[in-house]
Amino acid sequence: MNEDLTSQGKCLFCNEIFPQKQIGRHLAKHLALQEKSEADNHTKNFSHILIDSGLMFLHVLINDFSKMEILDSFLRDIWLECCGHMSDFHCKTADISMNQRIKDVFPDKEKIMYDYDFGTTTRLNLKVLHHYDINMKDHLTLLSRNEPLELICTKCEKEPAIHICTECSYDEYMYLCKKCSKKHEKTCEDFNDYACMPVVNSPRMGDCGYMGGVIDKERDGVFKKK
Ligand SMILES: [Zn+2]
Ligand SMILES: [Zn+2]
Ligand SMILES: [Zn+2]
Ligand SMILES: [Zn+2]
Repeated sequence: MNEDLTSQGKCLFCNEIFPQKQIGRHLAKHLALQEKSEADNHTKNFSHILIDSGLMFLHVLINDFSKMEILDSFLRDIWLECCGHMSDFHCKTADISMNQRIKDVFPDKEKIMYDYDFGTTTRLNLKVLHHYDINMKDHLTLLSRNEPLELICTKCEKEPAIHICTECSYDEYMYLCKKCSKKHEKTCEDFNDYACMPVVNSPRMGDCGYMGGVIDKERDGVFKKK
């Protein structure tokens, strides 16, 4: 992966784009203002949770009385589901059941891990950033997500990558644009058979049969060249 690659996300509230490191603090400003304006107005407890894997991230606001299974199915829908693998949440010291409620699970500042698929595992890190008393209509709201990374074709080093060849990827992915995919078909038999996988906006890209998410699809897939 290109070392200069950076990641950024759009704010749900104002649609502005911020770098990965700043978006959390930015979202907190909106949430704090909202909390202030709604004080004593039938608010509920919500937790702002960051889920990430390298440059890919999700900021969600989730009702504290929701069960962990809500988060599990959200992560499957947006980032992970290929063929119904097992998954599990745990922290250093304990296993976490899907029936536990958010408020009982997320201790401040402790990292929680999530594994999807115990064979070709995709590991995600979760942590709670802050708690709010707030009015939100949904149990879970996606506040921000990294925009598709600017992944460039490994061969021509110019065009956006639309495929990877899993057979020719070793330490790093072999990324291929449309044109170079066509060329690669002629030299790599496996590419046509099974090794051609789509570039998707997910840490599960290229693993098992993962083809992309079923929600938030407009931010899945390939980045748009400016
Ligand atoms: Zn904003
Ligand atoms: Zn699978
Ligand atoms: Zn190319
Ligand atoms: Zn190949």
